[in-house]
Amino acid sequence: MDAPALPIRRSRRQLVEAVRERPFLIVTGETGSGKSTQLPRYLYEAGLAEHGAIGVTQPRRVATVSVAQRVAEEMGCALGALVGYQVRFDDCTSEDTAIRYMTDGCLLRQILTDPLLSKYSVIVLDEAHERSLSTDILFGLLKKLFLQKQPAGRRTEMKVVVMSATLEVEKLSEFFGHCPVLHIPGRSYPVKEIFCNLLSPRDVGSSAYVTEAVKVTLDVHLNEPEGDILVFLTGQNEIERACDLLFKKAESIDYRYEVHDRAVEGLLILPLYGSMSTDQQKRIFLPAPRGIRKCVVSTNIAATSLTIEGVRYVVDSGFVKQLNHNPRVSLDILEVVPISKSEAKQRAGRAGRTSAGKSFGLYSREFWEQCMPEHTLPEIRRSSLTSVILTLKCLSVHDVIRFPYLDPPEERHILEALKELYQCNAIDRRGHVTRLGEFLVQFPLPPKLSCAVIKAASLGCEDLLLPIAAMLSVENVFIRPGDPQKQKEAELQHQELASQVGGCNDFATLLNIFEQCKASESPSAWCKEYWIHWRAVKSAFSVERQLREITTKLKQLPDFPKETFEGSRTEILRRCLCAGYFINVARRSAARTFCTMDGHGSIVYIHPSSTLYNQETLLEWIIFHEVAVTSKIYVRTVCPVRYEWLRELLPRLHQLDAHELSSVARE
Ligand code: ADP
Repeated sequence: MDAPALPIRRSRRQLVEAVRERPFLIVTGETGSGKSTQLPRYLYEAGLAEHGAIGVTQPRRVATVSVAQRVAEEMGCALGALVGYQVRFDDCTSEDTAIRYMTDGCLLRQILTDPLLSKYSVIVLDEAHERSLSTDILFGLLKKLFLQKQPAGRRTEMKVVVMSATLEVEKLSEFFGHCPVLHIPGRSYPVKEIFCNLLSPRDVGSSAYVTEAVKVTLDVHLNEPEGDILVFLTGQNEIERACDLLFKKAESIDYRYEVHDRAVEGLLILPLYGSMSTDQQKRIFLPAPRGIRKCVVSTNIAATSLTIEGVRYVVDSGFVKQLNHNPRVSLDILEVVPISKSEAKQRAGRAGRTSAGKSFGLYSREFWEQCMPEHTLPEIRRSSLTSVILTLKCLSVHDVIRFPYLDPPEERHILEALKELYQCNAIDRRGHVTRLGEFLVQFPLPPKLSCAVIKAASLGCEDLLLPIAAMLSVENVFIRPGDPQKQKEAELQHQELASQVGGCNDFATLLNIFEQCKASESPSAWCKEYWIHWRAVKSAFSVERQLREITTKLKQLPDFPKETFEGSRTEILRRCLCAGYFINVARRSAARTFCTMDGHGSIVYIHPSSTLYNQETLLEWIIFHEVAVTSKIYVRTVCPVRYEWLRELLPRLHQLDAHELSSVARE
């Protein structure tokens, strides 16, 4: 298949020359102009991959796979041959792969083993406007790499191309030594933006936007001329719910519908979110059959990462699910928050790709003015820095405060990350990475979880922790159907999975699901029976194998710790969890509330999805994996523990004062 006639085609020669001439180049252009799919191919065809591969990073996993697939198709080769992709826990590349699409996090990890990136002749940082944490760190690392004049060990000069939809081009150019900027002229049609006035500032925090989005979508379907619809919602659950509602509503307005194909007469409903299988994702690019309107219900991924042709109508919920660091509890929290105004414009623009379009924002003007910020804050300014600071320290970047950040994070966030690394024993009092820190960084997991895994491995019982780590690394495994009757049924089955484990706790439930499913004759049928997402468990199986490989390698090192401990299976499991999660510890303070012990003393509740919900009075100390905030702070994936297991660990929470910390940062 040949590449389509995209706007970028006219700039081909200019692009190739610009990359040849200078070490850094910035390329901007409308979403959909062909940057991600065409530019790497142009560079390859111009011979720029002769001394190493062309590495293209994307902040999102789905986009990485989807774009690689597309380019392989266009170039007529098998995926994983000339064109391949690499994302966390899934490597589809080979020796011959000259164009490697990968997530930015993957490239960051590669720098750990190959600091000069000697495998690559060109690095393309795509979707730079998203300002993901890993891309921001890569900006700084690549800049540093070039500042060390002619780094020894590289045969040829490496080229860096930064691609962005729009945004802060001058700032970026200045950051990379006033490098040239090439703009790809795009084409787009006018989009009429309509305020539907269905959400007011009072609706922040409520989930009313799901049903409102469904109503507006059906309205558009019934009243507007032909053209596909793109609905922006927040996450997998909300999207599945909206799709279910769309079927139901469509049914009640007397539409024939086929559940298998998810097609209502006249309306083809397709969900799109990060954790979908690639086959499902491919369907969103196919044109709908004649006379049928395609309706894609998506997360933010369709705003810039993936371009769906034929969309004339956008329904914008005005919300996005975002990982934010919450200083109140000192934890990262996945929150549903209003999008920024520039994000809303980008979403609306998706309606004007093929002809003039309309965008229906559910919100009111008041909401727009009061709740939506001008721009989205870069991730580095709002999320936990623990993992990246450990990575930087392992790369011998000791002064993590004066690292060349495009937008420096707040110093207190850096200090908080250092404190957590110190608490985990990943760095010492002088800020140097410890041996444990070097082990921890090997795992593509949050440091707390890696700590628990390493503890288990040192006791020779990684079989208990690896499945849990894998289950926590994939999307939610529990199916929560929208229908109340089915929901009850699912809840009963989920409870059964919990009660079969001795000493009930949510981590053990995950282990139980993993083990039972693996042992069953037909894992997919088993999952169906227990209302568990088979696809998620299947990916957990593969993640577990990869984590096991890392563990096995580490265990062969002569200085890997070895310990012994006598106790029951559940006790060992819970003690291993303590080794990492003692930082997330809370003690019961009243009938149903717990108080965190990290110095913040936040009051938290056990989330209703936990097997320990309603058993609070029986518990005293708990540790937890994550936090969700609505009107209250909820902790999710919870395990009861004993004080005696924590006694030695808790003092670490209160060591290092502010003065010591800032010297740790600069050492
Ligand atoms: P940009 O990077 O400038 O946003 P892309 O290169 O991603 O642009 O997209 C160019 C075109 O390729 C778009 O029309 C898009 O719909 C199409 N495209 C990208 N990925 C796929 C895919 N997996 N299947 C079908 N079409 C795709």
